[in-house]
Amino acid sequence: MSRCPSCADRTLDPIRLGDSDLPALGCSSCGGALLSLVGYRDWRDRTGADAVDATAVASEDAGDVSDTQSALRCPKCSAFMTKYRFSAEARNQIDLCNHCDEVWLDHGEWELLGRFALSKQLATVFTRPWQHRLRSEEAKQRAETRWRDTLGEDYARAREMRTWLAGHPKGKELLAYLYLSQTEKS
Ligand SMILES: [Zn+2]
Ligand SMILES: [Zn+2]
Repeated sequence: MSRCPSCADRTLDPIRLGDSDLPALGCSSCGGALLSLVGYRDWRDRTGADAVDATAVASEDAGDVSDTQSALRCPKCSAFMTKYRFSAEARNQIDLCNHCDEVWLDHGEWELLGRFALSKQLATVFTRPWQHRLRSEEAKQRAETRWRDTLGEDYARAREMRTWLAGHPKGKELLAYLYLSQTEKS
């Protein structure tokens, strides 16, 4: 009998995840679910490739999605689970036991993965390339935020100009012209 890693005093019961036929163990108190990656891969192979969800949100819309901040212990082996972000846009973290390949999804996180069109890529999220890409995306976003703060009300205009230069066949020459006009002593 597995106990809920979040509620501790609740046991997990067999459920199906969301409106899929993917078997998991669910907690009726917090709405979280424990999912075996082995079962998940079976399901993914059985149900075929991901139909890319065009309605996937790019911005964070957490709605009523929970996210446990504290470290969770794996219901199977009691080891601490590792937290993984899955998108630069969502703050949510999903927990994985690296020993058992069991994933803990807080209430609503399965649906959130769906909104990011990641229902069929759950196993990929934990891989090094994915996490690496995520970190460089986040670094880019942080840099962008710094520029927005620095440039203030001119930020939107600067972005527009950047887009214009990036698509211009003489972008580099135009940039050199602008740059030199600022640095040359008159
Ligand atoms: Zn629970
Ligand atoms: Zn475990």
